[in-house]
Formats: sequence, C-alpha cells, structure tokens
Amino acid sequence: MQIIDGKLISETIRMELKTAAGIAKGRYGKDIGLAVILVGENQASKVYVKNKISACQQLGIVSRFYQLSEMISQVELISLIDKLNVDDAISGILVQLPLPKHILEASVIDRISPDKDVDGFTLVQAGRLLKGEQSLLPCTPKGIIELLDRYNIEISGANVVILGRSNIVGKPLFHLFLQRNATVTICHTKTRNISDITLTADILVSAVGRAHFVNARMVKDGAVVIDVGINHENGKLIGDVEFDTVKEKCAYITPVPGGVGPMTIAMLMSNTIEAYRRRHENECNLNS
Ligand code: NAP
Repeated sequence: MQIIDGKLISETIRMELKTAAGIAKGRYGKDIGLAVILVGENQASKVYVKNKISACQQLGIVSRFYQLSEMISQVELISLIDKLNVDDAISGILVQLPLPKHILEASVIDRISPDKDVDGFTLVQAGRLLKGEQSLLPCTPKGIIELLDRYNIEISGANVVILGRSNIVGKPLFHLFLQRNATVTICHTKTRNISDITLTADILVSAVGRAHFVNARMVKDGAVVIDVGINHENGKLIGDVEFDTVKEKCAYITPVPGGVGPMTIAMLMSNTIEAYRRRHENECNLNS
C-alpha cells in the first residue's frame, strides 16, 4: 500500500507554478492579480482565505483582499464583482463560500466573469466542463485528477465510484473521470446498498463529509481510495475513510490531513495563472 502524499505533490506543483507565473509575467509585462472576497467572520473561511493569500505571496501573485461586513447587501456585493470584472489588474475573482443566508450564492457566483472564475463555479464554466470544452476547473476535482496522474494511476477504463454529488466536488469530478474514459458511478443519500457499489470500485472517492463513512468492508482489494472529507472528531481533523483499516486493503490511499486538501489551493493558483495567460493571449490575438 502506498500513501498518496498530497502535501509533497502540492509543494512540487507550487514550485512549478512559481516558475510558470514568472514566465507569464515576463511575457506579458503585467502582474497576476487575484481578488479574494470574504464576507463575515466565519473562522474556517478566514483560515482558508489566509492560506490562499499566503500561497499567492509564495508564487509572486498579487492578492487583493476584501474583508466585507456580514451585513453587506447582495446588491453591494454584486457591484464590487462588477468592478472587479472590468479591472485590468485582476485575472481571478474568488468569493469565499459560504455566504451569509440573506445573500443568494448562485446570483453572486454567476456574476463573476467566467474568464475570471478561478473556482470554476459559474454556470458557464460548469457548462464547458459538461461539454468537454476547455474550462477553468473546480479546484478540488482538478486536484484529485492531478494527484492520480502524478502517481501514474490509470484512469482510462477504471471503474470509479464517487460518494457525494455536490456541485463543487462530486458532479464536476464525475465529468472529469468520464472525460478520461473511466466508467463512473455516483452515490448519494438515496442510493441503495452502497457497499455493493463501492466494492466494484477500482478508484473510490469519498466526498460525503461524515467521519467513518467508508470502512474496510466497503473497499475492494487493491483499490485506490481518495478521501475528500473534512470532519472534526475529538479535536482532530479526520476524513470520511477509516484510514487504519482501509489502508490494509487498498493499493493507494490519501490521508487526511495531507491528501486532497493541499491540492485544492495549488489548483486555485494554477487556475489563476491560466486565467491570466488566456486573457493576455486573447488580447495579443485581438491586437495582431
Ligand atoms: P455536501 O455539499 O454536503 O455534499 C455531500 C454529499 O454527500 C451529498 O451529495 C450527499 O447526498 C452525500 N451524502 C451525505 N450523507 C450521505 C450518506 N449517509 N450516504 C450517501 N451519501 C451521503 O459536501 P461537499 O461540499 O461536496 O463536501 C464533502 C466533504 O468534502 C466535506 O467534508 C467537505 O468539508 C469536504 N471538502 C474538502 C475539500 C478539500 O479541499 N479537501 C474541498 C471541498 C469539500 P445528497 O446529495 O443525497 O444529500
């Protein structure tokens, strides 16, 4: 059994991205800018935002941080996004979720210009992914595929089972695996006999958000197990998978922490550089 070291891979990717960012800036002569918007005082969100800003610093990306009051109206938030959409110094816009209840998340997210949607959450980017067109991919699913590729784990032809069908993990991941010629099954709260299905998985991904959800009896010998879950138990961070027992059965497994989590921020940085490159390439093409 091999532990998939997401921390190590993400550090390697960050070094690669630092070089890529330097080359892109040299070519187009402008800074790469990421706008990060945080509404309210959610502690977990504050930590995520801090980590994203520090990743920008490490890579030479200019982050512009907007800490907004919990009481901000949807109209005010949308007006900020409108300004950032036409701001030449900004290549990517990130709105940290969740938003307060009085704000309709979908309206805010879909206001982001798709070309600056570095989280890959807008309808346009989701549609491009569904049709297999070039898109800015949601960061966690993109990070999972990247991890599998870096470990040379064959996706084509594999039976993949994904637990969870959220818009940010399960559904986009379904399409990414499908594009890579896997046979994909997705399970949710209405799925019957989940164990029968997980036992068919060559690659099993759990994105449920429940500690101990996946146990060794649900995993085929030699499977690859990817744990996306983030759960808190007795002051400890754990995934959805019972790591100690499942690791005895599988060929590869991601730990929590140190598996999928670090890849998400690395992929956000990758999307920001990609958005910058595409925008400036388009400008050059238009001017030539
Ligand atoms: P979510 O929106 O809450 O979706 C959870 C999914 O799991 C839903 O599709 C739900 O089914 C399914 N589910 C819940 N209980 C189930 C059960 N008993 N049996 C079968 N299916 C069940 O969560 P999410 O945003 O996708 O996140 C999932 C987990 O990944 C969370 O722990 C989250 O913190 C973590 N996460 C980690 C990262 C990272 O970077 N590491 C990124 C994103 C999320 P229904 O659709 O039927 O309700």
